[in-house]
Amino acid sequence: MLEPLRQWICDTCGEIIQSPGQGYVEWMETNDKRHGFRIVHHASQSPRKGIGGDCYYGIVERGGDGSLTDFVGARGLLELTSWIHVGEWHDSKYAEPEVDLREWTTLFRRLHAPYYEEARHCTQELRDELDCGADQIYLYLPDTLKRIVEEHESRRPMKEGEAAVGERQLQTLSFGVSAPRIMVHSALRNLERLKGLVHRARKELKGEQERERHGALQ
Ligand SMILES: [Zn+2]
Repeated sequence: MLEPLRQWICDTCGEIIQSPGQGYVEWMETNDKRHGFRIVHHASQSPRKGIGGDCYYGIVERGGDGSLTDFVGARGLLELTSWIHVGEWHDSKYAEPEVDLREWTTLFRRLHAPYYEEARHCTQELRDELDCGADQIYLYLPDTLKRIVEEHESRRPMKEGEAAVGERQLQTLSFGVSAPRIMVHSALRNLERLKGLVHRARKELKGEQERERHGALQ
């Protein structure tokens, strides 16, 4: 799991940005409006630097950028909200925001809503929450997002030696017959327990067979 509000997934290379000091926020600018926000690796930390590249926008596309450290914490809140309105001391008449508000909302949540950065990639789990009636606030509460990330991790396909049917497939099957969510979850937990039992029983059986074979040979 990513460390909330301390680690991000680079929009260019898809690798983890390990700390705010290793990242950059960049954007494009069209008709004085900022859009196309991205969180990317700082050039010195980019996995592409070995081949002489980086994770930044090309020079022609880039409208502006800043160190990720300026966009987190209290400083970050002020920086980001100043793009919507600089405040009455600097602008007594409210002017148009300098940003595409829809894209800004996503950037803001990536930088300031715990677990949002990782959970936004868990599309299946987000859809499940919506199906269960999550509204536009509940869906993004830290507890909800943390659970979504944990569920996503628990649904990863099983490793070598485990049952052929992955948890994800089982879940899909269960939802196919519209089983209540809670039942699916407890069924998955039971499945884990059963797998452990089967594994132990197989080992014991094998040992018994070997002992028998050994005995027959003597
Ligand atoms: Zn990168």
